[in-house]
Amino acid sequence: MAAIKTAIPTRRFDAVIVGAGGSGMRASLQLAEAGLNVAVLSKVFPTRSHTVAAQGGIGASLGNMSEDDWYWHMFDTVKGGDYLGDQDAIEFMCREAPKVVYELEHFGMPFDRNPDGTIYQRPFGGHTANFGEKPVQRACAAADRTGHALLHTLYQRNVRARTHFFVEWMALDLIRDAEGDVVGVLALEMETGDVMILEAKTTIFATGGAGRIFAASTNAFINTGDGMGMAARAGLPLQDMEFWQFHPTGVSGAGVLITEGVRGEGGILINSNGERFMERYAPTLKDLAPRDFVSRSMDQEIKEGRGCGPNKDHVLLDLRHIGKDTIEKRLPSILEIGHKFANVDATKEPIPVVPTIHYQMGGIPTNIHGQVVAPDGAGGQKIVGGLYAIGECACVSVHGANRLGTNSLLDLVVFGRAAGNHVVAQNLKQKVNKALPKDAADVALERLNRLETSTGGEKVQHVANDIRAAMQKFCGVFRTQELLDAGVKEIMKLDERRKHVSFKDKSKVFNTARVEALELDNLIETAKATIVSAAARKESRGAHAHSDYPTRDDENFMKHTLFFSEGNRLEYKAVVTKPLTVDTFKPKARTF
Ligand SMILES: Cc1cc2nc3c(=O)[nH]c(=O)nc-3n(C[C@H](O)[C@H](O)[C@H](O)COP(=O)(O)OP(=O)(O)OC[C@H]3O[C@@H](n4cnc5c(N)ncnc54)[C@H](O)[C@@H]3O)c2cc1C
Repeated sequence: MAAIKTAIPTRRFDAVIVGAGGSGMRASLQLAEAGLNVAVLSKVFPTRSHTVAAQGGIGASLGNMSEDDWYWHMFDTVKGGDYLGDQDAIEFMCREAPKVVYELEHFGMPFDRNPDGTIYQRPFGGHTANFGEKPVQRACAAADRTGHALLHTLYQRNVRARTHFFVEWMALDLIRDAEGDVVGVLALEMETGDVMILEAKTTIFATGGAGRIFAASTNAFINTGDGMGMAARAGLPLQDMEFWQFHPTGVSGAGVLITEGVRGEGGILINSNGERFMERYAPTLKDLAPRDFVSRSMDQEIKEGRGCGPNKDHVLLDLRHIGKDTIEKRLPSILEIGHKFANVDATKEPIPVVPTIHYQMGGIPTNIHGQVVAPDGAGGQKIVGGLYAIGECACVSVHGANRLGTNSLLDLVVFGRAAGNHVVAQNLKQKVNKALPKDAADVALERLNRLETSTGGEKVQHVANDIRAAMQKFCGVFRTQELLDAGVKEIMKLDERRKHVSFKDKSKVFNTARVEALELDNLIETAKATIVSAAARKESRGAHAHSDYPTRDDENFMKHTLFFSEGNRLEYKAVVTKPLTVDTFKPKARTF
């Protein structure tokens, strides 16, 4: 080991950002424009990050098409998250929203336009006017390719600002010094199979979500929870991981997403009787109720025998009445996805859809500047020096127990920008890199060595598929204590099997088998955090629907879960119910 260690090349930066999605590139832009020496690592070319797949829109109370107010946006976000979101962070995000969207517009992001030249906005689930009175038009959209427009805009601005991209580089583990401060990462160059230490005065995680811990997912294959895995192995907590959003409209059998923007444009869900069933469950917002609500209603319809198709296992999303012209103009990708993945012409036939895993509300806990925080052992929390987390891998928490559509793209740019500004304010140019500890690369090297020398008979693909199947079976839309307890046992067994994986081809150049084996360590950390946290939350809140405890229990569970990988230990911390400047929204029954 010593021999390998001394041979590891090292490069120094002011800041290293792991992840080139919307959050990573919004932060890197802020840093590069301030003249800092910033490296951005990505497993794929930046514009292939999952943000590119975002369809429906980015939320901001611009009020271009119907009266709107940031305070209403804040109310919707607090209520949509079933009162688990931190209200200081939610106020900050909703107040900042118009500013960051106009900034994107000025960067050249090609939003759709109204006849008067303002940004086009469509209605979206859970977004309302006047505290829940009626749907509001708040989702700023570029057709159904909003993430694509956003990511390309940010990439181009970064090229202009001379951000240094490390494309097809995979961060393996954090490097922490004796004081617990983060001083960089060890990373693998996928093209050559070589490793390098990237030293940094500040490290920012922007690694995105982990939807690939489930079998049916709208997420890209690269969404394997690497940020969560690295944080967990470094002894840091993961927050609120039991809350996973099922998007109501994944194409049945394929998992590919049909944006909520379809319902925003007037699309409706129907059961095998041709009934618009959401009118029964959510009389005011109907098909535009929040996602947890709609997904459960669909599941209920299917359970009660009103599902469609030969197996009665899905419902239908009908958009025929919207008209061919509007569909072609506002939802061109949906037409294409309908053709390719469901074999239907959406202008003439409804699309078969089922609730599909889409988004993690939990992640690495941070404050509103993006600084990672952990318990201080005395009932409070401390900042982890040198480490920030932003985007889907972070839990600020603005989404609470259930995220509203369009609030993730917003979260990326608001907190990517805020973290960038916070780092810039620290005058990194005047500071030196902290010394690397002697054992800097040990955690990652041990993982690599285990894979190189393992003769265990387990195949990466088999273990990964079994994790996905187990999460799907034991941690679905509706959960029971029996299922969750069985799920914990199953995932722990898979954690043991994971330690015995091996692969035959040990070549270095573009060896995707090695990359997948390394990703497996991150999948399992995320799956463990999810199922252990879920089994301990004995209430129903937001996306965590527990059939044995069907109501929300504010007395015992109005608190955030913190999972620590070592010993699979849980701690809890208080929800911030006090916003920055306005009155608190008190918990109420959640009807729509
Ligand atoms: C199909 C789909 C549609 C969506 N539509 C919307 C929408 O309309 N509105 C909305 O608000 N939200 C939407 N969302 C959610 C939103 O798009 C995501 O939450 C968000 O884009 C995540 O952005 P991010 O910056 O956190 O990470 P990502 O965009 O996922 O990027 C992660 C980055 O991290 C890199 N990375 C990961 N691990 C490593 C590693 N080990 N080493 C190096 N690099 C690494 C990846 O290469 C990538 O560059 C949608 C999500 C999906 C899946």
